[in-house]
Amino acid sequence: MKMRFDKNLDHIKTYEAGKPIELVVREFGIAKKDVVKLASNENPFGCSKKVRKNISKNLHKMSLYPDDSMFMLKAGLAKRFGVDEKNIIIGNGSDQVIEFALRAKNQGAILTAGITFAMYEIYAKQLGLKVLKTPSKSHSLKDFARMYEEHKEQISVVFLCLPNNPLGECLNARDVYNFLKTIDKNTLVVIDGAYQEYAAFKDEAKQIKADELIKNFPNALYLGTFSKAYGLGGMRLGYGIGDESVIQAMYKLRPPFNITSLSLQAGIVALKDEKFIQKSLEKNAKELKKYEKFAQDLGIKYIPSYTNFITFLMPKEKKSTNISDFLLKKGIIVRNLASYGLNAIRITVGTKQQNKRFFRVYKRAFG
Ligand SMILES: *Cc1c(COP(=O)(O)O)cnc(C)c1O
Repeated sequence: MKMRFDKNLDHIKTYEAGKPIELVVREFGIAKKDVVKLASNENPFGCSKKVRKNISKNLHKMSLYPDDSMFMLKAGLAKRFGVDEKNIIIGNGSDQVIEFALRAKNQGAILTAGITFAMYEIYAKQLGLKVLKTPSKSHSLKDFARMYEEHKEQISVVFLCLPNNPLGECLNARDVYNFLKTIDKNTLVVIDGAYQEYAAFKDEAKQIKADELIKNFPNALYLGTFSKAYGLGGMRLGYGIGDESVIQAMYKLRPPFNITSLSLQAGIVALKDEKFIQKSLEKNAKELKKYEKFAQDLGIKYIPSYTNFITFLMPKEKKSTNISDFLLKKGIIVRNLASYGLNAIRITVGTKQQNKRFFRVYKRAFG
């Protein structure tokens, strides 16, 4: 007899992560140095030198459990966002905070955009929650408001991904606040700010200020991560900022020592190097413009992006799967969005050299 598992798992599609460099080296025999990874929205410039130096000096910390109060990191975040330490929870990636949030509510249904970060759905389904999506693929607050009204009794958590991964669009903060005014105080509204640094840099109107947010809307939870602009994806470090009552509920679900000693150390130091972030944002903006121009020149449709990636929408006759497979064989890893039901590829903005290589290879094959 076949072993039976939790029935909720039957409805879950396993998350497909961006392909790692090692896979391309293994499968296609391409030298590691020739692989260009533009698939997971990591910072192509790495992380702050200060972090690297500090970590190499503190390697001995790996033998001890981290300070489970995570006091220093919380103090840094509290200062950055103008909130209290009590308003912060640290996660093993912001992914873990998404999971805490859903488990803390664990009821009814969630509401998300038509196409958005896949983990909202996966964590919700693990708990047997229903997943409602707006008909609009990108975030339409009109759609959100209509669906919320219609399913108010059921919906326990609303997810707004601002800016949205994998599409790249971003709602204006003012519109988000107006939407929040219409939401019941018993509904948790998660604002995923994984790319907020990029959005705020490009257009202030997109910036969600965590302090204002949670003061005005105690049912809102802001999520941030060190994986994207801070260039610490491998450290698995994220955070949630919310009203004390929300944080306290999630704390009951937190395993002890849920981040590593070195991640904790990295986060503390990373927050002190504002310059690195500014430089990364500047370079990203400059390189992103090249992708827009490239797309315009080749007649490729794209979604204007407030992030460190850009999504190219392919015409019917060009299958995104073929394109991403071809690029992969050339050592360029991009994200095929076919699994999201889109004939599109998402490309992380890389370094100048990496982008040049992408442009050259793409143009030669498909231009
Ligand atoms: C990358 C990402 C996250 C989480 O990343 P972690 O590495 O788990 O912190 C969350 N939301 C979105 C939209 C992302 O793109």
